[in-house]
Order: sequence, then C-alpha cells, then structure tokens
Amino acid sequence: MPQLPTSINGVTIEFSQTVNKTVDQKIINALKHCIKPNIAKGYALTKIYISSANDSHKMPSRHVQGSGKAVDISRINGLKMSLHYKTNKTVQEITNAIQNTFETYTHKRENFGPLLKNKLGKPHPVSGHGDHIHISVN
Ligand SMILES: [Zn+2]
Repeated sequence: MPQLPTSINGVTIEFSQTVNKTVDQKIINALKHCIKPNIAKGYALTKIYISSANDSHKMPSRHVQGSGKAVDISRINGLKMSLHYKTNKTVQEITNAIQNTFETYTHKRENFGPLLKNKLGKPHPVSGHGDHIHISVN
C-alpha cells in the first residue's frame, strides 16, 4: 500500500509522531480531491496536520479495518481545530470546505467533523469530532 505524502497539491502535510502512514490508495485520492490551497474561496490552505491514519484506533474503526482506510485531520495552517474552529474564520471555512468537498468524492464513507457527521452521504450522528475531521473510504 502507498504512503501518505508530505505534500498534496502544494499543501504541506504534517504528522503526529505516532502516525502509520501506510494507507489505501483511495485515502490518498480522497486527500488529492479535498486538500487544495484554494479549497475555500478567499482563504489560503497551506498546511494540514494528520493526527491519525493507519494506527492507534481499536477495531472496528476504519483506521485499522482492512488497513488504512481512514485519516484524522486536526489542524489547519498549524491551528488546532479544537481551539480555533469556532473563532477563526480561516480554520472554520477551510474545515467546512474540506468536509463539503469530501462529500463529492466517489469512495466516501464516513465524514465526521465539526460541520458534518455523515456516513455514505447521509446524516449519521456520532459523538465527538468537534476537534478533528475523520474521513474514511469504502
Ligand atoms: Zn478517525
């Protein structure tokens, strides 16, 4: 399986030290689809932080199920969503745009975050995810 790259569409990808970067190709393609400098009109995306990929979750999480089918994004341009989503327009607009754009990805499965909690395109209430975006693929 491929490795998560350190840059996607010119956007820098930073990782938590514990991240296992080996993921399904569909995850890489999902990131190529929704990680872009101009993803939110009028706000520049320069950097995201991946706090989890193929690791550190207990089964049956998509992170380890069939291996590498999910990623968590917890910072935008170096700013933690947990601290800045509600108050920083850039963090909020870009987070929302990533979630909205992931909804248009063919192989989307879970799309949980501060804006949306959807599974296969339909509302799917889950707790948490106010502080990161969790996306997974089929
Ligand atoms: Zn997750």
